[in-house]
Amino acid sequence: MGTLTVTDAVPVDRLVAWLSSFRDAVHEQGAYLTELDSAIGDADHGVNLVRGMDAVMAAVDPPPSTPGELLKKVGMTLVTSVGGASGPLYGTFFLRGAAAAGDASALDGAALLTMLRAGLEGIVARGKAEPGDKTMYDALAPALAAFERSLSAGEHLAAAARAAAGAAADGRDATEPMLALKGRASYLGERSVGHIDPGAASSALLFEALADSLDAR
Ligand code: ADP
Ligand code: MG
Repeated sequence: MGTLTVTDAVPVDRLVAWLSSFRDAVHEQGAYLTELDSAIGDADHGVNLVRGMDAVMAAVDPPPSTPGELLKKVGMTLVTSVGGASGPLYGTFFLRGAAAAGDASALDGAALLTMLRAGLEGIVARGKAEPGDKTMYDALAPALAAFERSLSAGEHLAAAARAAAGAAADGRDATEPMLALKGRASYLGERSVGHIDPGAASSALLFEALADSLDAR
């Protein structure tokens, strides 16, 4: 892994900016996310995330003092405020990320990667998604791989997050021709083909928000 300077460590307020940016994005794109979910689900994905992220932003004001405590609060809030598959799945992502963050006061690139990886492992443990099943995993996994590649090449956090966001968007687009094998969309069988997965689309927003919040230095 490339050398990371001290200025690359992400403190709590920067993570709050990430969450706030994600909240704004799900508000802006909520109708689109729900439209995607109306094609292969039950038309609530945008509504679910708007409710969840509004509850999250209320719960983290004032922010807890460490990244670990912050992420734990986010995860618990999502699990309890969002019905449907995505609440528990995103909630688990943040809860596992919180455990990985421990009691560090800020997360450097390696710690951020460890946190995100633990989160993704939590999603897999909970939802059993495999690559190509047409879920959020198909945006998150390539995003993390790109993040790791970029950090290993010695790039700074903001650049790594930007690379991850690009990979997440590609992963989102790649779900369109896939046959859904997990979640509600799998009930549609072949009729799930030809639509972007809503969770993959929201996961791309999550990484775009991360890149934006790390860029704004
Ligand atoms: P619900 O499907 O319960 O209505 P949402 O509409 O909020 O919940 O979220 C749907 C998204 O959840 C899907 O687009 C998919 O990305 C994700 N999802 C569903 N089941 C799984 C699973 N088992 N593993 C990973 N992601 C999943
Ligand atoms: Mg739904």
